[in-house]
Amino acid sequence: MGIPYFDLFYLKIPSIVILPRERHEAHMALTIHYNQAVYLTSATNLQQLPADFGAEIAFIGRSNAGKSSALNAITNVKGLARTSSAPGRTQMINYFALNDTCRLVDLPGYGFAKVPTAVKARWQKTTADYLEHRKTLLGLILVMDVRHPLKELDQQMINWCMDFEVNVHILLTKADKLTPNAQNKALFAVQNALVKMKGVSVQLFSALKKTGVDEARKVLDAWFTNHPL
Ligand code: GDP
Repeated sequence: MGIPYFDLFYLKIPSIVILPRERHEAHMALTIHYNQAVYLTSATNLQQLPADFGAEIAFIGRSNAGKSSALNAITNVKGLARTSSAPGRTQMINYFALNDTCRLVDLPGYGFAKVPTAVKARWQKTTADYLEHRKTLLGLILVMDVRHPLKELDQQMINWCMDFEVNVHILLTKADKLTPNAQNKALFAVQNALVKMKGVSVQLFSALKKTGVDEARKVLDAWFTNHPL
């Protein structure tokens, strides 16, 4: 719709740079009420996705990293995303609407050892295609267990996002499982590993203790509105 969005936006906080992404549309400033999130639809392939109109932010991560719990904590809607440890149930792409134009997307988790190779290959293709072609995708929230960050598939995800100019914000989840000192060490290590990557930021998060929720919402707000914090 209208003129393609093509400009550079740099957020004022040092760890976040918003990548230029020619494909997405300009959005007006609006206030997002995350607690108004409602389930919209589910898809098993990209053809079934809702129309590529408006704006969306996707959540992804290794199975069991805490993605569903993070979605529920950020929206403050209990049971919005189903927490599950059954591999079969995680293959759907689930959509949640925040308002008429903004959506949160729960992408299938990865890293299940027992998933057949063909399913893994399909997941790879679907995810890469989604990241590359979805015009309304503003950024990816990558969920990693703070105790096991930057596994091979996490790194692959970050590399895809770099290739396709998708912003990435990492939630180091289950922070409550570490002492404050160990949390900061883990955060620092991940920040250091990603220091040269543009458009990647990282924070500590605990769905259990609800820590990091405001910080995560600020990133979502910034992406949805294309405005500096
Ligand atoms: P998903 O498979 O990535 O969606 O992960 P889930 O959200 O289903 O969480 C996997 C497991 O980790 C569940 O047993 C959750 O209760 C637990 N979990 C998720 N987030 C946290 C957290 O912040 N702190 C703690 N201690 N446990 C968590």
